[in-house]
Amino acid sequence: MMPLCDDFATSAEVEPPSDVCQTCVDMGSTWVHLRQCLNCGRTHCCDNSPNRHATAHYRTDGHPMIRSAQPDEDWRWCFKDELFFVPGPDGYEVAED
Ligand SMILES: [Zn+2]
Ligand SMILES: [Zn+2]
Ligand SMILES: [Zn+2]
Repeated sequence: MMPLCDDFATSAEVEPPSDVCQTCVDMGSTWVHLRQCLNCGRTHCCDNSPNRHATAHYRTDGHPMIRSAQPDEDWRWCFKDELFFVPGPDGYEVAED
């Protein structure tokens, strides 16, 4: 099994995600899915959204760890290492496929 990356340990216990991308709301724009930064807790829109605020947040603030903010999803992603984490029997593991 692949080890989790160092950034995984920087994930914080964050508040539940917002149900909007506030940056999009401020711009009068819309989004497809929401992602939450696990380093500061802010909620941003995904890469299928026109503004890609989660990726923009990583580029400007350098926070590598996000999780899905969709209620039915429980994965995490590290922008820096481009690793996808999924829940396993003993906690999160790197999805290899
Ligand atoms: Zn990483
Ligand atoms: Zn957005
Ligand atoms: Zn952040």
